[in-house]
Amino acid sequence: MPREYVGEQIAIGWEPKLCIHAAECVRGMPEVFDTQSRPWVTVENAFDRADELAGLIARCPSGALSYRRLDDGPAESPDAADDHAVHVAIQPDGPLYVRGDLTLKDAAGGVVRDGLRVALCRCGDSQNKPFCDNSHIAAGFAAP
Ligand code: SF4
Repeated sequence: MPREYVGEQIAIGWEPKLCIHAAECVRGMPEVFDTQSRPWVTVENAFDRADELAGLIARCPSGALSYRRLDDGPAESPDAADDHAVHVAIQPDGPLYVRGDLTLKDAAGGVVRDGLRVALCRCGDSQNKPFCDNSHIAAGFAAP
């Protein structure tokens, strides 16, 4: 279950095990996402900017961040032009960023994750497979 940080217009979910510190969030809205603060997410600092915050969260490549709108704003939807399309972006020396309307299943057909964004291990060293956990960095994985 994600941790949740609840504001008036939007609630932010965060799953630490999925976070690969790509830092889209801290670069995009440092007044909301500050790793030096506890809690590190302060939703109130984006008061009246729920759309901007939602757009930023949708850029989190791992799916560690998610949101629930508490106002009339739209829920996140697949960002592909065709809602059934899945897009895979290979990161140099790193994971696969996958976006779309996703259901990730294990070999037995069990659902591992439903979501819109995941970062999948490509180096084989992740301790959180199938998800990336940044082990490729320590492993010196090279696949540009
Ligand atoms: S953008 Fe997502 S993966 Fe990157 S630091 Fe923020 S929560 Fe973690």
